[in-house]
Amino acid sequence: MRALTVEPGIVASIALEDRPDPANDANALLLRTLAIGICGTDREIVDGLYGEAPAGATRLVLGHESIAQVIQAPRGSAFAPGDLVAGFVRRPDPVPCPSCAIGEWDMCRNGLYTERGIKQRDGYGAELVVLDPAFAVALPASLGVLGVLTEPASILAKAWEQIERIGRRAGAFRPRRVLVTGAGPIGLLAALMGVQRGLEVHVFDRTEDGPKPGLVAALGAYYHAGAPDSIAALEPDIVVECTGASSVVLDVLCRTAPAGIVCLTGVSSGRREVRLDVAALNRSIVLENDLVFGSVNANRRHYESAVRALEAADPAWLAQVISRRVPLERWPEAFERRPGDVKVALEFAA
Ligand code: BGC
Repeated sequence: MRALTVEPGIVASIALEDRPDPANDANALLLRTLAIGICGTDREIVDGLYGEAPAGATRLVLGHESIAQVIQAPRGSAFAPGDLVAGFVRRPDPVPCPSCAIGEWDMCRNGLYTERGIKQRDGYGAELVVLDPAFAVALPASLGVLGVLTEPASILAKAWEQIERIGRRAGAFRPRRVLVTGAGPIGLLAALMGVQRGLEVHVFDRTEDGPKPGLVAALGAYYHAGAPDSIAALEPDIVVECTGASSVVLDVLCRTAPAGIVCLTGVSSGRREVRLDVAALNRSIVLENDLVFGSVNANRRHYESAVRALEAADPAWLAQVISRRVPLERWPEAFERRPGDVKVALEFAA
């Protein structure tokens, strides 16, 4: 079978390799991969900045956003041949820590978790994949290849769950307005889920053209482009920060309404130093009961909630979020950055 692999830490080591088919495992699902989504994390791994190969290996199979079809399922499992599934990214740490012990590996307390396609576990970017059914979510056939958005959607399903849990710290937190920064796939899915919650959603992105303004408008949300000044007066109750860009992060920290919640989801890369008035920031956070928190990864509950959110979305809208589909034969194109790109999917099979 063919698999897309990389030597973590080594730039330009990505290659489409021939690998032996996976060994038969009666307790696991055997899957035919239909597509993987390419995200910023994959690009960082390809650029040698992130990622770890499995113990004893030098190369890592890429791919953590997946959609696959079941070829074989263990007897008595909830899956049958032909079903569509998405695989989870993270596996609990082996200790396990208190969070991993209850299936909340997304909240791992000791950092010893592993992640398929990212950290010490081969990913889903191979024609055939073996998957423990405990780490798979079933997708409705109606989603088809749009199901490749399940993993990124799970990240926002978790973020929104956490925002709602945190909101309950105030007896009466009735949010009305949300600001999403960044109109990439993560920002768009954050906006989708904000609209699905009946909130007034504003999306800020530096891009003024391409498909993003239209995608935001199609949700019934408001698009703001250009300088952050354009969002200065919004006073959102909730911010979902999806850029990881230092200047944007810093900007949104002081922008919320009192008792506001800022959820940071963007993993910043590199180093960027900015000047910060810590005293003013502290004063504003304390005097307004504001809260800033980070959110990463997702557990089963979030994948299931992501599937419900995708099912409730307009399929034509989701199809536009996947702005480019690249067949495996032309895989290098999946890593090119082209104008108008939102989410690029690399297709392994029709
Ligand atoms: C993935 C997460 C993962 C994180 C850190 C993201 O791209 O979507 O599942 O936990 O990277 O490795």
